[in-house]
Amino acid sequence: MRNEEVSRVFRAIADILEIKGESRFRINAYRRAAQAIDNLPDHLEDRVRENRLLTIPGIGKDLAAKITELVTTGKLAYFQTLQSEIPMSLVQLMDIPGIGPRIAQLLYEEYQISGIDELERLARAQQLRRLPGIKKKTEENILRGIELFRGGLARRPLGRVLPVALRLVDYLREYAFLDRVSLAGSIRRNRDTVKDVDILGVSADPDRTAEAFTSLPEVAETLGSGQTRISVRLHFGLQVDLRLVKNDTFGAALCYFTGSKEHNVRLRELAIKKGFKLNEYGLFRQDERLAGGSEHDVYQALGLPFIPPELRENRGEIEAALTGDLPRLVTREDLKGDLHVHSVFSDGHDDLEQIARQAKELGLEWVGICDHSASLRIAGGLSVERLLQKLRAIREFNDRSPDVKLLCGAEVDIDRHGNLDYPDEVLAKLDLVVAAVHTVFKLDQSHMTSRIVRALQNPYVHILAHPTGRLLGEREPYLVDVPVIIKEAARHAKCLEINGSARRLDLNDVNCKAAKDSGVMLSIGSDAHRVEQMQDLFLGLSVARRGWLEARNVLNTMSYGELTRYLKGSSMQADQPH
Ligand SMILES: [Zn+2]
Ligand SMILES: [Zn+2]
Repeated sequence: MRNEEVSRVFRAIADILEIKGESRFRINAYRRAAQAIDNLPDHLEDRVRENRLLTIPGIGKDLAAKITELVTTGKLAYFQTLQSEIPMSLVQLMDIPGIGPRIAQLLYEEYQISGIDELERLARAQQLRRLPGIKKKTEENILRGIELFRGGLARRPLGRVLPVALRLVDYLREYAFLDRVSLAGSIRRNRDTVKDVDILGVSADPDRTAEAFTSLPEVAETLGSGQTRISVRLHFGLQVDLRLVKNDTFGAALCYFTGSKEHNVRLRELAIKKGFKLNEYGLFRQDERLAGGSEHDVYQALGLPFIPPELRENRGEIEAALTGDLPRLVTREDLKGDLHVHSVFSDGHDDLEQIARQAKELGLEWVGICDHSASLRIAGGLSVERLLQKLRAIREFNDRSPDVKLLCGAEVDIDRHGNLDYPDEVLAKLDLVVAAVHTVFKLDQSHMTSRIVRALQNPYVHILAHPTGRLLGEREPYLVDVPVIIKEAARHAKCLEINGSARRLDLNDVNCKAAKDSGVMLSIGSDAHRVEQMQDLFLGLSVARRGWLEARNVLNTMSYGELTRYLKGSSMQADQPH
């Protein structure tokens, strides 16, 4: 049994437990285990054989026994019992936006609903609002959710979809008789949310490719299967299209299906000006194909350098390409550290050693440990006394750590008036001060803006974290005048953060470019609360690249020595009158 199948069973168990209203602790244990399994570099089967399950983070004796049962017998008695109580079709209803475990449970208990058609019928007949706790508004939301689900229209955060998509591509490359394969569409451009996943391939045997693709364990339903296009829906509702093209048109098709539409319109105009024709089959002069096999060839034949997918939004990239002014985008290799990681000192899960080890594994040289400040009690905010303990712990750690250095930072709360949560003399002791809004989101724009500007004026602040407070698909940005924030950040030599957390990606790409154009330095922070989430640094990187950033615009590209000098210098500089 493949790792993905095991993690899928664990996720289904978590969903069922959630519907049953079981303890958070148990539910999370299954979710965490599923995630840990997804992150494994090797096969569970080998680990079972070699008795190495307990070294997986989050896997204790009980879960290890369940994994062993699944892997060796292909079944899990516990899961079967649960399924006899709660049908899987009900669990799948939770994929519909607007249906959480509470509502799913209610639907099942009151109406024994377990299918989407039945649900829609009852919602349209206004029968749902008769249930306790379901209002007219809830019912309308459910109907809209059904529509979104049916149309596959719900946009999902990049960070939730990209790992799945990359796994699919890896699998297809290996097992699906494809000579070439690539992601395409908005996910290849790393847009912050994506609607569906487009994959492009060249197949030696389309029938066997279709067979391999549609029989993946992730696939819930085959929507269509032909010689040039195979569409499936995954268990969590996401639609994935695999298009098959000929080898000599792969580059042109990749360009075409990667988009954006606006970028492609500009490319076609350029082709026409040269007397050519560009479409998904190639670049042609009359009937002669000038290019098509690779994207590089297509761009070159148009007189352009290769334009990285992240830039293809018609935001000036064609002009820049024509004049040789494309940015040399910051890369993964450029990143030397992570500027925003939580530890056990506040609400993080892992200690300094674990964080440093993960950093090393990710190829990083330093990490800014930023725990919450005192007033954020629900997130384990640190008293001044604890903060000073942490400072000592980090100094000691650095003395004995030859390769990864830690910076003692804090994610300091900005109160509603723009005051910081620690006094200046405490902030002055820290290596890194990241200021952030976590409370009182409902201020009007002028108050919110001046609140944040006030924090930026504090000489000890280095970075403004998640500057607009948005949560993808959950919470709109708070009302803040971003251009003013950018201007003030430039004036006081402060950095703005690209928070890489899968839920946030804040600043977004457009604001990121505006900040760069105003001379503001950007910092990328994973905002990890567990070491596995430090991967989100690279999601933040995708925003940086979409925001046209080069290495010199990104604080994370500095060596430890450069960074500490920069941080010290900027707080001293800010002391001077402007
Ligand atoms: Zn925060
Ligand atoms: Zn944070």
